[in-house]
Amino acid sequence: MKKPIAFNSVKPLGKELENMKKILSDYALLREKYFSEQCLALLKTYFPKSALYLTHSGTGALEMMAIGMDIKEGDEIIMPSYTFVSTANAFVSYGAKPVFVDISPQDLNIDLDLIENAITEKTKAIVAVHYAGHSTDLKKLKQICEQYELILIEDAAMAFGGKWENNYLGSIGDMGMISFDVTKQISAIQGGLLLVNKEKFAARMEDIYHIGTNREKFIDKKVPYYEWVDKGSKFQMNELNAAVLYENLQNTTAILKHRNTLSKIYYAQLIGLEQEGCLQLLPQRQLEQNYHEFYVLTKTKKERIALSKYLSEKGIEALFHYIPLHLSEFGEKNGIFHGDNHTEHISHTLLRLPMHLELKEEDIVYVSEQIKAFYYGK
Ligand SMILES: *Cc1c(COP(=O)(O)O)cnc(C)c1O
Repeated sequence: MKKPIAFNSVKPLGKELENMKKILSDYALLREKYFSEQCLALLKTYFPKSALYLTHSGTGALEMMAIGMDIKEGDEIIMPSYTFVSTANAFVSYGAKPVFVDISPQDLNIDLDLIENAITEKTKAIVAVHYAGHSTDLKKLKQICEQYELILIEDAAMAFGGKWENNYLGSIGDMGMISFDVTKQISAIQGGLLLVNKEKFAARMEDIYHIGTNREKFIDKKVPYYEWVDKGSKFQMNELNAAVLYENLQNTTAILKHRNTLSKIYYAQLIGLEQEGCLQLLPQRQLEQNYHEFYVLTKTKKERIALSKYLSEKGIEALFHYIPLHLSEFGEKNGIFHGDNHTEHISHTLLRLPMHLELKEEDIVYVSEQIKAFYYGK
């Protein structure tokens, strides 16, 4: 049998250990957050108009938004249910109620046609989750937010490197976030980025980021000492993570290109199965910017279970994704859901294939051949 093909992997790109040693032996560099600053300088080239905060996780960036939006008990936040728990929990932890809206089977993003039905007097914001790194029609979503005076938040956790028209995802809504978790395309092992794109939310963020103190104003010599001025927490990224992230950011072009090449091989290998009605792939227009994951949609839950078992027997690790939040124990009690059953159906039929930098063209061909063997009879 061929060597097993894991779903994900981790491998040093080059200078991570060297970077870590540099800060572990130089207190001045550590204190001035040398690698965080280097990372921010690189990130600025992607997001020149946003205020950027490197955080300990994508989850932390979402929590900063919740504090910065001044959520009150009972405020409603509209979001898809087919997403990671943090999308909801960050806001729920500060008193909000999640209002889940079904996804569109076309792009697995929130269904724009169902949103207006879910808006009430209490609605405060809409969270667009760019599933697999692809956004919905953000122009249309922006119009809805403007019409009802709602805050537009981008959960771009999976979307680093992706664009809507000419702007990078994360920089388009009022606020956005990106995850640098090891499960995402660009990794700090654990980390995240908050993007504040609207002046109104920028004023408090600096203090929220520094545990609710005006430390940054003190450092800029605007106040004689720093003190407790707001809510907040220790949201900053750890410098050791920043040392890893810096190496990833310096190699971003090559990393995204590699992952996109793997996606294109999967697509070319499997499109025949789609044409014959066996399974469904991502929309072709998404292929050019597909960096995060490569999924297939089977017809039924039973078929997905059989396919993933078949692949597992061949040493291939393929994973399904979210349990819909509105059907989870906590979400059932604390949220409401609008729409049909697309979220549930997708959660039953989506299977993610191996995708990481150690995979070569021949590995993708091998995985694809096994999928073909499953459908065409072994
Ligand atoms: C990964 C992810 C998050 C959370 O990011 P962390 O860095 O893991 O905290 C939030 N939302 C979505 C859609 C994600 O995929």
